[in-house]
Amino acid sequence: MEHKDFSAIPWHGIPRKEIEWYPKVIEESCIGCGLCFLTCGRDVYDFDFEHRKPVVARPYNCMVGCNTCGMICLQDAIEFPSLGALRKIIKKHKVIARSKKKLKEKEAKERK
Ligand code: SF4
Ligand code: SF4
Repeated sequence: MEHKDFSAIPWHGIPRKEIEWYPKVIEESCIGCGLCFLTCGRDVYDFDFEHRKPVVARPYNCMVGCNTCGMICLQDAIEFPSLGALRKIIKKHKVIARSKKKLKEKEAKERK
């Protein structure tokens, strides 16, 4: 089966692989319902049908800041870095300055 690969797409100009944001499954808590695997639209997970567990197979496909699979897991079996860690990443990489610049460019384009 062919998988999607988003890992080469930079996030606000930052190489995706420099950003440690992706889910971690706590195996002891997971009941193997598959909801995370079936929900993620970025092809981050495989599913190990033999052991009935999701596998984070393509971590850098994960959208930075997304935690949908963690939110919907009733077992709380999916962890992400903390909100503080995410904000540190945003500050460290000067994402807000990049965002403002991009926004200006878009505005100039739209006003043409
Ligand atoms: S949603 Fe939670 S319990 Fe269900 S397979 Fe994923 S990690 Fe396991
Ligand atoms: S956080 Fe979002 S993009 Fe990342 S694995 Fe979960 S559902 Fe997929």
